[in-house]
Amino acid sequence: MLSKPLIDRYNRNLNYLRISITDRCNLKCIYCMPRKLIPMLPHKDILRYEEILRIVKIGVRLGISKVRVTGGEPLIRKGVFGFLEQLSIIDGLSDISLTTNGVLLKDSINRIKSSGVNRINISVDTLNKEKFYKITGYDYFDQIWEGIEQAEKMNFNPIKLNVVPLKGINDDELIEIARLSFTYPFHIRFIEYMPIGANQINADRHLLAPEIKKRIEPLGRLIPVVKSAHDGPAERFKFEGALGEIGFIQPISRHFCHACNRLRLSASGQLRPCLLSEYQEDLKSLLRKGCLDNELATAFFEAVRKKPSEHNLSTDHPPKVLSQMCVIGG
Ligand code: SAM
Ligand code: SF4
Repeated sequence: MLSKPLIDRYNRNLNYLRISITDRCNLKCIYCMPRKLIPMLPHKDILRYEEILRIVKIGVRLGISKVRVTGGEPLIRKGVFGFLEQLSIIDGLSDISLTTNGVLLKDSINRIKSSGVNRINISVDTLNKEKFYKITGYDYFDQIWEGIEQAEKMNFNPIKLNVVPLKGINDDELIEIARLSFTYPFHIRFIEYMPIGANQINADRHLLAPEIKKRIEPLGRLIPVVKSAHDGPAERFKFEGALGEIGFIQPISRHFCHACNRLRLSASGQLRPCLLSEYQEDLKSLLRKGCLDNELATAFFEAVRKKPSEHNLSTDHPPKVLSQMCVIGG
């Protein structure tokens, strides 16, 4: 019974699990974390590492082959490197990646590399120190940039830089950010803002991919890149002569639901088949009632069965997802 692939009603093979290991963060990005104090999950409600590992092992027996560790900020959780090492020895996982804001990257890059992480995404929305402070509430820009350069030296390949463009916040820098792809082998990923969680950014600040493309056009023609096995939903391009790439993740202007292969495990132990739907299977309660592996597998199948064909977010639809991104895992 534990070897059925996770194929949903729309014939999508859900082989990718994104895991939020904490809802805590050392930044407060304006599009993600409210500036005012919000209640964090009590520690007892956050899945323990051994619980996450048990879930991943069951997921792998059902067909999960890739995981991404995210948050909140994953590098602030105590014991994260030991957890990554445990993940990397799970037979059947072919790809382990990490998304981080980079604040702690400089001092942890060796441990990340030796723990078996193949790929990292680093979120950085500006190249300007003052603006970084405005966006995140903290003065860590130089530290993050050192971490990014350190990661490059350690030959992580590719290093993706995640950027959420917002009008009047960082849209005057899109060209400078895209220009990085000429000097570094980075994959710059422009991600459309999604209205998720309690504090949402006004619609007049939203910036969609077609407009972002126009803004960076002066740098040259965007040449499409052929997709590869580990590609996510990004539409990929390269400027002629560039070392790196430019990608667009367009959940709003051109949603990729038909090709979505993701499940998400939230910090609070909920298995969610769609980032933009509140439906979830409560794995934590099952685990803490002392369930059998088969019961967890059944919950996986139920989540897969209920994965919606697509989300209903658009520029005209008001947002419905009130769970915080840092709990679900971005
Ligand atoms: N703290 C880590 C970081 O920032 O990379 C990992 C967690 S963060 C939630 C993961 C990704 O989600 C980041 O790249 C961030 O830019 C993105 N993100 C957060 N809130 C978002 C939103 N409302 N719309 C689009 N992307 C968002
Ligand atoms: Fe923290 Fe990442 Fe959210 Fe920024 S995007 S507040 S770094 S979890």
